[in-house]
Amino acid sequence: MIIFGSRASNIGSVLVNGSSCTYCQNQGTQNITQFGKYFHIFWIPMFPIGRKTFAECTHCKRTISKKEFTPKLKEVYATKKSAIKRPVWHWSGLILVVLLILAVYLMSTST
Ligand SMILES: [Zn+2]
Repeated sequence: MIIFGSRASNIGSVLVNGSSCTYCQNQGTQNITQFGKYFHIFWIPMFPIGRKTFAECTHCKRTISKKEFTPKLKEVYATKKSAIKRPVWHWSGLILVVLLILAVYLMSTST
């Protein structure tokens, strides 16, 4: 049984304007999607460990990785990546641990 490891979740995507798909040549059909990887224990996300970025064409469903990005995609990604924010729940395990330590500490000092 796997009780810890890494998982990823979709943390956001941006529509790319003015770029054409390298496979189906359609304009403005590409989305840059980012997945946030996180370390989990018992499926509870503990802390983020990295991001994975893809571009997907909504027309032909072709997905390309960040290293295959066209200069236009790279440009859009550079300007839009700050808009993609990692959700707070990726830290929930760590927050839980801190709260637990705080609770134990408060209980030990109140007596
Ligand atoms: Zn396409």
